[in-house]
Amino acid sequence: MDNCIFCKIAEKKIPSTAVYEDDDVLAFKDIHPHAPVHLLLIPKKHFSTLQDAGAEPALLGKMLALAPRLAEEAGCAVRYDADGKPGGGFKTLINSGPDGGQEVYHLHLHVIGGPHPWRIER
Ligand code: 5GP
Ligand code: ZN
Repeated sequence: MDNCIFCKIAEKKIPSTAVYEDDDVLAFKDIHPHAPVHLLLIPKKHFSTLQDAGAEPALLGKMLALAPRLAEEAGCAVRYDADGKPGGGFKTLINSGPDGGQEVYHLHLHVIGGPHPWRIER
């Protein structure tokens, strides 16, 4: 897709700090992080919004399943103490459309975590 910044990142025409890549997806650090860990996971194929990717449930499932793995590798996965009490953790977020707060119209899953304070609501 011409003039799509995340297509250009996927094609390595614009640099990013990648943390995961395979044939279908790329994960990289958000340029303006809202928390100590702020990753963006994108499909390499262009979809403007989540709504436009509805015909690709396997790809969406893969992206969602990758989020905890990325969080784990970034050090912000949920971890349980000896009493089974959870600690750590992360937020997964997809903004869709103007009212949903979407700024970049190439589908992306935010993975946001690490110790608070964050710049977004818990
Ligand atoms: P949205 O509001 O569309 O869900 O989020 C877009 C995100 O993309 C924002 O958090 C913003 O900081 C990030 N972003 C925008 N342009 C770039 C870029 O060129 N490189 C990287 N790494 N992140 C970007
Ligand atoms: Zn794109």
